[in-house]
Amino acid sequence: MNRELSAAGLLSAVALAGILFSSPAQAATCNATVDSTDAMQFTTKNLVVPASCKQFTVTLKHVGKLPKTVMGHNFVLGKSSDADGINADGMKAGIEQNYVKTGDPRVIAASKVIGGGESTTVTIPVAKLSAGEKYTYICSFPGHASIMRGTLSLAR
Ligand code: ZN
Repeated sequence: MNRELSAAGLLSAVALAGILFSSPAQAATCNATVDSTDAMQFTTKNLVVPASCKQFTVTLKHVGKLPKTVMGHNFVLGKSSDADGINADGMKAGIEQNYVKTGDPRVIAASKVIGGGESTTVTIPVAKLSAGEKYTYICSFPGHASIMRGTLSLAR
């Protein structure tokens, strides 16, 4: 038996199975990566969460070199109308609380603060998102949120 032919046959069988058994729920991408930089930027400024996801996981990467005490970044999500309030209270909370007020009900998801070369993940419970609402993610490190912000919405 020809080995290469056999391997090709197996591959097409796997591909066919993938087509037959895939559903919209499995096809949805329930994660994203957001890079942050030494230039105080999120490189991704818009995220759309598929409604079929139960959870949406964001990996925040700091692709710079500066330490978190100087150029720390986090990912804090709330309704767009709450973003400035979340940020103001977060700054007061300090680095020990990752610049997020403890128990802040406006915060839907928040990561820890990371420095250059680090990464972290944060999970967004999709049940807390509404299709008609606008959401904003910020970095709540003092002074960053005016530049470091992006929008997030639930796909209809
Ligand atoms: Zn930052």
